[in-house]
Amino acid sequence: MTPVLFLVIPCYNEEEVLPETGRRLNEKYDALIASGAISPDSRVVFVNDGSKDRTWEIIRTLHEENPRFSGVDLTRNRGHQNALLAGLMTVKDLCDAAISMDADLQDDINAIDEMVAKFKEGNDIVYGVRSSRETDTVFKRTTAQSFYKVMDHLGVKTVYNHADFRLMSRRALEGLSEYREVNLFLRGIVPLIGYKSDVVYYERAERFAGESKYPLKKMIAFAGEGITSFSTKPMKMITVLGVLVFLVSIVMLIWSVVGFFLGTTEPGWASLMVSIWAIGGLLLLSVGVVGEYIGKIYLETKQRPRFRVREFLHDTPDGSKLK
Ligand code: UDP
Ligand code: MG
Repeated sequence: MTPVLFLVIPCYNEEEVLPETGRRLNEKYDALIASGAISPDSRVVFVNDGSKDRTWEIIRTLHEENPRFSGVDLTRNRGHQNALLAGLMTVKDLCDAAISMDADLQDDINAIDEMVAKFKEGNDIVYGVRSSRETDTVFKRTTAQSFYKVMDHLGVKTVYNHADFRLMSRRALEGLSEYREVNLFLRGIVPLIGYKSDVVYYERAERFAGESKYPLKKMIAFAGEGITSFSTKPMKMITVLGVLVFLVSIVMLIWSVVGFFLGTTEPGWASLMVSIWAIGGLLLLSVGVVGEYIGKIYLETKQRPRFRVREFLHDTPDGSKLK
């Protein structure tokens, strides 16, 4: 069986990297097709996530010059996770397997061979796992790794050092389509689909052009998304905290009653102030965490669409145009 493989690549303001990415992927596909690893009907699908630069024009040109390239244009910027989902859902009925990766080719495209081989061995999901983080800045490395650790402690099962470079079979994509949540954290959802899976190790390279579209602010938001979408532990921790504070307050009560009868109640100002601030702070924090979850419920109940495709540029193998 030579599978039809689709690469799905979300792009946000990637005009600097796209021509080179297209060139390298085209070469890679030539080799994969020549060796009989994948079908000649395989495609590279770029998803334009509402870019403000010339990204979509470049994708259109790539498509016009080479039918191997397809393009999905979203109506506006929806963020990496939604863009990725949009691409996967658009192509899921056209391919045997799809690999998601970033436009900057930080994920080693030579790992594709091994991913396809593992897919042929009967794995429905193949995770790309980074074997080292040497090319990352110390800051990115430590923040990313503590993120995986925190997630693990909170009971969210993710694959360590795996981002969104992965192969999914058609039926795994079908499974993914049944997860309807608006607060998307794909690397948490994919392991929940089940099926046989395997990992492929690769070295992550540096971005060869342009700069990261994931500033610290987005990274923190993404980590928060991962935690609150998959774990209710923070809420449980608040309950435990509440019980502890209550126990302390009973001790304080006994202490003040005893103090009253001993006639030593006057010098209590400091402890009073401290407890007011401490309890006030804890309350605010707790209400905040609970609020986070209520906010999620609010967003989920609205069932808003997660993305909208404006245009799908794609040449079908038999030459017919898709609508
Ligand atoms: N991206 C996107 N929408 C966004 C932000 C990023 O589609 O709102 C894409 C981006 O074009 C790239 C991928 O997500 O293909 C990963 O982004 P980036 O390389 O900037 O992240 P980093 O590797 O620095 O974590
Ligand atoms: Mg990158």
